[in-house]
This record gives sequence, C-alpha cells and structure tokens, in this order.
Amino acid sequence: MLINADLLLQYQRCKRRPFLDSHGDKNQRDTPNELLLKLQQDKIAYQKSILANLSYHQPDYPRRDWQAGQAATVELMQRGVEYIHRGILLVSYDDWVNTESENFSASPDYQKYTLLSCPDLLVKQPGESRFGDWMYVPASLEMGKRPKQEYQVGVAFHAQVLAKLQGTSPPTGLLKLRTRENSYSVDLLKWTPQMQLILAELIQALESPDGAEVFISRQKCNLCHWYSKCYAIAQSEKHLSLLPGVTPVRYTQLQELSLTTLESLASTSPSILENLTGFDHEVAHKLVVQAQSVLQNRPFILPYPLPPETITYTAPIEIYFDIEAQPDLNLNYLLGVLVVNRQTNTEQFYSLLAEKPEDEEIVWRQFLDLVWQYPEAPIYHFCAYEFDTVKRLAKLYQTPYSSVRPVLNRFVDVYEQLTQSVALPIESYALKAIARWLGFEWRDKEASGAKCIYWYDMWLETGDRTLLEIIQRYNEDDCRATRNVKDWLVEFFQEEYYLRPA
Ligand code: SF4
Repeated sequence: MLINADLLLQYQRCKRRPFLDSHGDKNQRDTPNELLLKLQQDKIAYQKSILANLSYHQPDYPRRDWQAGQAATVELMQRGVEYIHRGILLVSYDDWVNTESENFSASPDYQKYTLLSCPDLLVKQPGESRFGDWMYVPASLEMGKRPKQEYQVGVAFHAQVLAKLQGTSPPTGLLKLRTRENSYSVDLLKWTPQMQLILAELIQALESPDGAEVFISRQKCNLCHWYSKCYAIAQSEKHLSLLPGVTPVRYTQLQELSLTTLESLASTSPSILENLTGFDHEVAHKLVVQAQSVLQNRPFILPYPLPPETITYTAPIEIYFDIEAQPDLNLNYLLGVLVVNRQTNTEQFYSLLAEKPEDEEIVWRQFLDLVWQYPEAPIYHFCAYEFDTVKRLAKLYQTPYSSVRPVLNRFVDVYEQLTQSVALPIESYALKAIARWLGFEWRDKEASGAKCIYWYDMWLETGDRTLLEIIQRYNEDDCRATRNVKDWLVEFFQEEYYLRPA
C-alpha cells in the first residue's frame, strides 16, 4: 500500500480521512464541488507560474507505474539536471523504519507499506551524493500564506525518502509560498522527528478496524468528499461535535469525564468543566446551556447576557450592511445596504457594486454618502468583517477621520449581541444557520460567500452578467437575513424580560 505526502497532510487535518480514502467505498464520496475544483485549478495555475521561470525536467513513465517513474527520476538525478518536477521516489516503509528509528519496533506489519514521494521540485545543490558532487533538496509549492505545520511535515517527508535514494540527507527543504518572494527554508532537524511520529500514527490509524471517530468541524469538513457520509453518522449519533462550542480539545476533556452525550452534558454542573483545558467559567456555562437548548429544542438566554436595553433598541431608521469580497484580489467589490424606515414602513436595498476591481473606491464613496443621509441610523452587520473593512477602506482611500469615525460608532454587530446573550438549538452560529432556523430562506439555495468569490472571478473572466445578478441577490438576502435575526432577538428579549410574568 502506498503512503504519500497527501495522505500525511490529510491525516494532520483529520485523523479519519486517510482511513476513508484508503478503505472507504469510493461510491459514497461526494462529487467535488466547484469551490474545491477552483482551489485545485488555482494551485495548478500557481505552480505553472513558478515553473514557467525554470528550466526543469519531468520524468517520463507510464501512468501509475511508480517503479518506472523512479527509474526515470534517478536517471535525471544521475545526469545532474537543475530542476526535476514531480519526480518519483520510493522506499519501503519497512526498510525506512528499521534504519531510521528503534521507536517503532512494536508497530504493525510494515512490509505492505511503501512510501511514495512526489515532490513538486527537486532542486540541485552542491554537495556529495551517490550521484557525484551534487545532491538534491525537495521543494513544495504551496498556495497558503504561512509555512503551516502540514506543509513543513510534507517537505520533511520528501527529504527523508530522498535521503534514502541519493545516499545523503538534504541539509534543508524548501517551501515556496504564494505570498513570499523567497523560498522558506524548512528546518529538517526540527520537523523530521515530528514527521516520523505523525507517519507512525497514520499507519496505526490505517491498521485500525474502523478508523478514527467522526468529528465534524465546519472548517475542515466543508471541502471534504466524505462530508455527507460523516455528517450522516454524526447526526444519527447526535455527536457532540455538532454542538457549537465543542472543539476537538474540549471534546477530549469531555470524553475523559464520560460526557459524550447531549443529555449528560446538559445535566452537568458547569463548575465541573470550568477548570479543564480549553474551558473557563464563561465557556463552561455557555456549553451546558447550549446542550440544554439543543436537547429541548428551544432558545435559552445565557447566564450572563448583554444588558437587555442594548439589545431591545429599535430605531426609526435602521441600516443593514453586508460586504462581498474577493480576498485574492484584496478587493471589496460589493457593499450591500438595506435601509429600513420603520416610521413609513418602507425599505430600500442599495447594491453598490464594483463591476471592475478599480471601481472599489467609487463604491466606497457611494457607501459613505448613503449612510450619511441617515446620520442617526444604527448600522447592523453580522460579524466583525464589515467593521474592520470600513476601517481599512478609510485608510486605503485616505478618507477623513471625521467622516468615518461617526459612521463606525453606529455599527452594531448582531452576531456579537446574539452569541453573548442567547443559545439556540442549532449546529452553528453562522448567519445561514441562524436565519434558516428562523424560517428565512435565501432565494438561491446553493449560494454562499465562498461561491460568490468564485462567481465574481468568473464574471471578470467571462462578462456573464447573470453571475453578478446571483451575487447581488445573495448579498441582499444576507442583509435581509441579518435584519430577521436582529428583529427576532429584540422580540425574544422583550418577551423574556418584559412580558414574562415574574
Ligand atoms: S468529513 Fe470531516 S470527519 Fe469526515 S473524513 Fe472528511 S474531514 Fe474527516
């Protein structure tokens, strides 16, 4: 069985994924969504842009014939070419373990595992190797902005397999990140032992009968092709990872106390949790109320909510604000503003759109003009992005402090108000999850912030206006959803504080 750097990377993101990738029924995988495809395409385009400036060789071999791939790679190494793109390096895990470490003697049957390294680049450097007075170091070309652990572990993996093949250890490994001009040098002395431990753990996970337990984490699961399968299992088990606030660290702590069901967590005293790693007084109380809320399927006011008067405030005119951005272009291309006039019972939506990236400044100024028409109106938004972006745009376009500060003072973060004050019977406090729980539906069911990024890129490429229309509709619905959440929160607090008999 082949173990490659991708399996190692997936294992670091999710302990269950490599088991499913190796032993799962491939028919149960989700079809790749367009976002994942875009990420893959972006990575290929990025790698091509780097390779375009290099004179490199690539081994020629029949598809998936790894032995032939290795022979062709070795031939290029012997010739001493400067760069080899996607060379093939193989070593039996059994051999590798026996010479690298004694710590693995109790591990499973290694003979069936072969390490397959296929680095983005092998870069020739001066030194001594079995090929002559030169050697190679591995280099990975990654899209991320930071030299994350998983990237460095991957480079250490390539370096170790390469060491076997060229008869000497490379002194370093290279990581070329999209955001850095120069390559990042990976400290192999530091990362190789960590890589060995992770690799040994991975092999044990592959040997286990069922793989690691499901743990749904939006960030890592959303782009995974096993999501539907894992989510169905988590739902059927009422797994605690579906409870907002249960992180992997906190889950481990709860497991140690045998608090692995909603019922047990809901009836626990928060004082038992508050001194555990990953908890504090507030987290412990919130988590127990969160479990009660889901169990009883109703909203609860948290133990220490914001003062009711800060939440139940309703102004004659209110503004709801939402931004669509394209982070790769460092661009905020759509500023959506919903003006609600409660006195005249009217509302108007403004879609301030930069059809071209260079129009960002224009829509920024339109936004300021618009919100200044209602100088008393609070500006509601969901999460910190809108507040932070307005500060950033003001700086970028040198807007006078006197015209931005009063606007920022009117910002009210509905997410902040809600999450500090209530627990809802939902799986996430994303705007979509909350608004849907209230019965609000987006007109385009498949739309999401991430897809809007993709659609805006496609608009720039193709000029297809229907893409802009979907984005604008989605952004308007976001503003309306924020309004629904805010209205519900006001009403709920009024009922709980002022109408409920003492
Ligand atoms: S869906 Fe999540 S838990 Fe399941 S394999 Fe993928 S990342 Fe792991």
